[in-house]
Amino acid sequence: PSAMHDINLKPPPIRWTDIGGQARVKTSLRRAVRLSTESPATLARFFDRPPKGFLLYGPPGCSKTMAAQAMATESGLNFFAVKGAELLNMYVGESERAVRRLFQRAREVAPSMIFFDEVDAIAGQRAGFGHGSGGGKQNGGGGGTGGVNVLTTLLNEMDGFEALQGVVVLAATNRPQALDPALLRPGRFDELIYVSPPDEAARRAIFEGVAAKRRMHADVDMERLARETEGCSGAEIKGICAVAGVAAYDRFAGLAEREEGVEGGEGKPEGIKMADLESA
Ligand code: ATP
Repeated sequence: PSAMHDINLKPPPIRWTDIGGQARVKTSLRRAVRLSTESPATLARFFDRPPKGFLLYGPPGCSKTMAAQAMATESGLNFFAVKGAELLNMYVGESERAVRRLFQRAREVAPSMIFFDEVDAIAGQRAGFGHGSGGGKQNGGGGGTGGVNVLTTLLNEMDGFEALQGVVVLAATNRPQALDPALLRPGRFDELIYVSPPDEAARRAIFEGVAAKRRMHADVDMERLARETEGCSGAEIKGICAVAGVAAYDRFAGLAEREEGVEGGEGKPEGIKMADLESA
């Protein structure tokens, strides 16, 4: 039971509206939730085999983890999250047991969802395993046979379709090409959801999301920021805002180096200015 505590994380209260853009991703995940509570008769009218495993893939920092957290918060499903690397950091046999127990718990408290973040850590191509050290701990970096067993356990659990009624299984990776193809077969993670870098409208929404929580000066031009951050991930945009926030705080607290002829805005609640964001 103690191992269960480690992997049954409380979801941080992220909501759909916290995620800028990504309308298609949100729809796919809402559908996943809805499908998990639909009656077999209804499902039969639309699907030969309703999807039950959902794989979020795409570049780092573009809201895969966030989307899973929002899904947990908004759906009210019982939420279990585990990071691939956490499972490998256990002694031989322990991670397989942890996976089995995870699915068992999820079935007991269905409707529920299980989220495997950084799933590539356990689901790398099986050919890549099997020629490592294999010592006490399982492969920290590609060796040992533990990864294969964890993956096999995961595949077995995914295959029990009847048993998985009311359990949504979600995984995320930024290296989809590194996944063992067995994981992507029909009946397993057969719905692939691409989580793209934010487009201009989404970047603007992310800046506006920050502006709604922090104090921003009236000179901040959201449209220009969105235009000029082409190619940035959501995480990078948050990073820009964080750096700008520090500059604005320094000015507020009188810590900034004084420019010639510029008042040291001590205590002035002017907030983050366009210049802070631009230099960030
Ligand atoms: P990784 O593959 O590295 O795990 P990820 O795709 O799972 O990345 P998240 O962890 O969801 O990325 O996002 C990292 C951070 O970036 C979030 O905590 C959030 O602050 C910010 N972020 C990313 N995308 C968005 C977005 N669309 N709207 C708002 N914030 C975002």
